[in-house]
Amino acid sequence: MQEPLIQQACDWLRGQQQAMIDCLEALVNIDSNSDDKAGNDAVADLITQWLEQDGITVIRHQRPDSGDILEAQLGGTDQGHALLMGHRDTVFPTGTVAGRGYSQKDNLGYGPGVADMKSGLVMNCFVLRALSRLPTCPLPVRALFTADEEIGSPDGRAFIEAAAQGARAVLNVEPGRVSGNVVTGRKGGAGFVINVTGKAAHSGVSHADGASAIEALARKIIQLHALTDYAAGITTNVGTITGGVSRNTVAPSASAQLDIRFVTTAQRDQLYQAIEAIIAEPDLLGTVATIEQTSEFYPLEEPMSSALFALYQAQAQAIGFAVDGEFTGGCSDAGWTASLGIPTLCGLGPVGAKMHTDEEYCLLDTLVPRTQALAATLLNLHNMSAAFER
Ligand SMILES: [Zn+2]
Repeated sequence: MQEPLIQQACDWLRGQQQAMIDCLEALVNIDSNSDDKAGNDAVADLITQWLEQDGITVIRHQRPDSGDILEAQLGGTDQGHALLMGHRDTVFPTGTVAGRGYSQKDNLGYGPGVADMKSGLVMNCFVLRALSRLPTCPLPVRALFTADEEIGSPDGRAFIEAAAQGARAVLNVEPGRVSGNVVTGRKGGAGFVINVTGKAAHSGVSHADGASAIEALARKIIQLHALTDYAAGITTNVGTITGGVSRNTVAPSASAQLDIRFVTTAQRDQLYQAIEAIIAEPDLLGTVATIEQTSEFYPLEEPMSSALFALYQAQAQAIGFAVDGEFTGGCSDAGWTASLGIPTLCGLGPVGAKMHTDEEYCLLDTLVPRTQALAATLLNLHNMSAAFER
């Protein structure tokens, strides 16, 4: 029923590769570390300009400390909408662009955030622009451009959850896998800081008077690491430790950073209980441990993506590329919406690799076909299997 609309959107997108590359270059050449509000706001300015030129409504939620949040709307604000998501922030410090801005060699685009995920932002802009050209848009489409995903979306999460309320589907344009696959499952994860206090003492004169925070922490680390269960997809990792004041002082303090990953929210709840018990255990007299959560992502559980993936895969095939679903241990904003019970698919962006490194690249010839597949999926959402219809 939507075939002529899909054809029309795909036809327009077919001629947009160079325009998309130009937009990608412009976005990559703006530093936008999660802490760089000015940079993230400059990226927002450009996106707003591109969308408003085509008559697309853009609401700007001003944020005092982090980058403003943009919400584009097409086809009204009724529920049953599709939500596109993308983050404007990168992991690269301000000043990176001056040293290595956007560059291109054959089919590869390079530069900070070129794959993760400025190419995805370009993609969402061009999907909206393609749909805005149709005589009618069969469903309301919203797109959220947030600015703090790389630090766990402390500011963006509430906007994501609000924009997803009543949505029919959420499509997140994190980079496509190097295999060309999209992401049908993601682990959830969380970060913590553990602080242990003990009692200082001279290690030669009055050793017995001390209580070693380092020893207490070490004992806890062994127990925390024992929670890892590869078969279940659970990992725990203490990635940093600090502590003590000198070689010959019983350590009065020690701290560590803990990262945990899990596949389901049920596992998450069990892990949290186990971790709390380990921290509370008085395993060394005179020491006290506390734990504080510093970040969290919910998992994208695979049943939440399966119907949407089947629909996307059929559209990709019709457009001319093969694609499969992939599970990854990396977290993303997709977990927030999947955990609300909304069908969610991730990794729909252009194909990229070596994310978060100086060698990050984007395969430029995937810009157009993957944008076409996303547009076709949106226009076909009414065909998604009834199991997930709201
Ligand atoms: Zn990302």
